[in-house]
Amino acid sequence: MRIVLVGPPGAGKGTQAAFLAKNLSIPHISTGDLFRANISRQTELGKLAKSYMDAGNLVPDEVTIGMAKDRMEQPDAENGFLLDGFPRNVSQAEALDEMLKSEGMKLDAVLDLEVPEDEVVKRIAGRRICRKDSSHVFHVTYSPPKADGVCDACGGELYQREDDSEDTVRKRLEVYHTQTEPIIDYYKAQGLVVTISALGKVDEVTKRAMSALSGEDA
Ligand code: AMP
Repeated sequence: MRIVLVGPPGAGKGTQAAFLAKNLSIPHISTGDLFRANISRQTELGKLAKSYMDAGNLVPDEVTIGMAKDRMEQPDAENGFLLDGFPRNVSQAEALDEMLKSEGMKLDAVLDLEVPEDEVVKRIAGRRICRKDSSHVFHVTYSPPKADGVCDACGGELYQREDDSEDTVRKRLEVYHTQTEPIIDYYKAQGLVVTISALGKVDEVTKRAMSALSGEDA
């Protein structure tokens, strides 16, 4: 399956993507994670991406599309992938369509995670990410790790993302509404969008997502 996950910052895309990718046996491809990995390796791409990320802006398409394409061309993504955080604007969505079309492939679904804005802010303020593997995501109140500051899955150190500060979150939400939300209509025109509520416990949302993807009523 080839799936795109959409939703505002704090909708739980990363958390859900990790579970869904495991259930569906496809790789979880997060452009945010790819940028963060470049930042920690201090690559040129990482240095460039950081300035945009810290300000809550999108990294330019020229860099982002190439990076996402390279990742999707890896052998593990041959039979499908779950995209988290890509595409993030209509021109990225068009580039993805072109890329898939040239390989004779297409998307199967776009899963839209809906969450009210006040909930988004609460979720992001308490979010903690693992330094070793940023798909390991916790929340100080909603899904706390067993030991403070330590990842349950791998023992890595948990930290708060720099772009999770209140000002940057506000900017990221604005960017989401103006640049990313239009891709939902773009994909609705292709009949690909399934919308689910991202409220509730993590495993409830995963169940809802799995039923929606299999065409059952959530
Ligand atoms: P995320 O981890 O998906 O919340 O992404 C964190 C930040 O990485 C975003 O706020 C952007 O600055 C950058 N980013 C991630 N994915 C993309 C994308 N597809 N296009 C542009 N910037 C992106």
